[in-house]
Amino acid sequence: MSEPEFSSRNPPPSNRQLLILLAIFGGFIIATIVALWFLFEQLVWLIPPQFEQQLGRLVVPAFERQAKPSATQTTLNQLLDRLETHLDSELENRDYRVLYIPDSTINAYALPGDHIVIFEGLLNQVESENELMMILGHELGHFAHRDHLRGISRSLFIQTVLSLFFPNVGSLESFAAAISSAQFSQSQERQADEFGLTLLQENYGHVAGATDFFERIKAEDRGDNIDFLRTHPPSQNRIQRLEKLIKKRGYKLNQRSPLPASLKKLD
Ligand SMILES: [Zn+2]
Repeated sequence: MSEPEFSSRNPPPSNRQLLILLAIFGGFIIATIVALWFLFEQLVWLIPPQFEQQLGRLVVPAFERQAKPSATQTTLNQLLDRLETHLDSELENRDYRVLYIPDSTINAYALPGDHIVIFEGLLNQVESENELMMILGHELGHFAHRDHLRGISRSLFIQTVLSLFFPNVGSLESFAAAISSAQFSQSQERQADEFGLTLLQENYGHVAGATDFFERIKAEDRGDNIDFLRTHPPSQNRIQRLEKLIKKRGYKLNQRSPLPASLKKLD
């Protein structure tokens, strides 16, 4: 007489048990992904500058091709050099460069390899040197906190994970695109704003113009037309946070400096 295949002690696996197993397995995978995500966060501080430069050599040429060496670009670099003199020695040894791209996009971002991309569309919005310095200082803040590398390691990470599950989706070709659409977290943006504000104070001895750019794009309320708004948190929050910080630190608001002649709009 053959034994029944399943005794009451060992019932056939029900759908429910399978589901539980599946859930445990799924949970394990998600936990691993989350753990790796945070590991990447920490690893960013271990990335040697040489690797960053190497990454820059991969990424920067695509933007360099669009950039136009011009009086505008030269002046933007002179302004950036002035801010750089106020950086900590660790960052001071780097040579940050601006790439000026004649394109109506209203945006700016930090690329690996110490380059800041500024679009004509953004420059056209700016009305004082102080306002522009705040934007440059904000981008320097992203370098100081290595946010641009975080953005890259994250998008690389996401693409790698996606390609594991969906081999046909997510290729690494769109690397440059991934960087330009990289979104930093609210706290990264807050810290970059704070960094910019500190540089503004050190450069001018006051912080007039710190919130001008955010006020202006908020007033225009063109939503999705402004790339900067798609990749940055709402302007109102940033204005409030900056104003609080200005009050807390007792910073003064004096006269704004005009834009250098070569940066003025031709209209
Ligand atoms: Zn930013």
